[in-house]
Amino acid sequence: MAIAGNHLKMQQLNLKNLSLQEMEDLVSSLGEKPYRVHQIYEWVFQKDVSSIGEMTNLSKNLRNQLSELSYISRLSIADKRVSKDGTEKYLLMLEDGNSIESVLIPDEDRLTLCISTQVGCKLNCAFCLTGKGGFIRNLNHYEIIEQILSVRREKKDIINIVLMGMGEPLDNYENVIKSIKTMISPHGLKIPAKRITLSTSGLIPEIKKLAKENLKINLAVSLNASDNETRDKIMPLSKKYPIEELLKTLKEYPLPPNRRITFEYVMIKRLNDSIEDAKKLSNILKGIKCKINLIPFNSYEGVDYEAPDYKNVEDFRNILISQHYTTIIRKSKGADISAACGQLRGKWQG
Ligand code: SF4
Repeated sequence: MAIAGNHLKMQQLNLKNLSLQEMEDLVSSLGEKPYRVHQIYEWVFQKDVSSIGEMTNLSKNLRNQLSELSYISRLSIADKRVSKDGTEKYLLMLEDGNSIESVLIPDEDRLTLCISTQVGCKLNCAFCLTGKGGFIRNLNHYEIIEQILSVRREKKDIINIVLMGMGEPLDNYENVIKSIKTMISPHGLKIPAKRITLSTSGLIPEIKKLAKENLKINLAVSLNASDNETRDKIMPLSKKYPIEELLKTLKEYPLPPNRRITFEYVMIKRLNDSIEDAKKLSNILKGIKCKINLIPFNSYEGVDYEAPDYKNVEDFRNILISQHYTTIIRKSKGADISAACGQLRGKWQG
């Protein structure tokens, strides 16, 4: 019986995997009025119901029809760790047995949820544990959105979303854009676009495509070096997309009013943490409306790189500030619960 049940489910539609347009197509194929689209979408994404039977403002006939064609599912939280500093890390099991991580980060009075977009990653950045595990597959719309819904079931007041967990969001372009549209839709998750940040390692063609989507979300770029030689060592992608070309693309990126691009800069001892590096960085970023996050590298077992001396991080920041760049040192959060991207999943998988 269980096998027959699963088989049936596989042929049905997961309502949580549908964009608003796809929901419109489904509703119109059933001969229903257009206003039903928003009703169903709101039950799924705002009221977060777990069954079609709970959609009480739909007719019984429509509920029956929907139940024959479709279902609503949830991801299960396989593990949750809470750090002394309040950071919470969630390990979510996917239906094919793979797992992904989402991290909830308290920052003053706000909660930020960092979500994954792929199982693993192709880009193999030298300082990243996820990259070392290789790439398995892209996440679909349901799996991206369900990370937000499942953590929201525990913590209602998530304010910011960052697409900065496992994977390169722009390498899973279609599913990521579809998911962001559901996040910002007034009938979907209703998250203001200015509260969403997509972080990329610099896929130039996809950044250009994103610019045309007009989503009004924030953009962060993981730069980590001020010259190609250094960046090539830690980010293989840089050989394909050199810094000059990346920065030219970012200069032309259409930012909403009062917004800036965030540059993430992971500081690694003796690799990219010198005064010289800070001066070069300040030079190459001229002309780009931006702010800079310095992230002192947190060393872990099996990696050759070391954390920088704190004095170097401060000197580095002071040079950038003297050149009028807003620069913040981001302290590593949740070190006691393996909060670095990919660590918890790595532990689970041994
Ligand atoms: S840092 Fe990001 S882009 Fe680089 S390997 Fe890790 S997950 Fe992929």
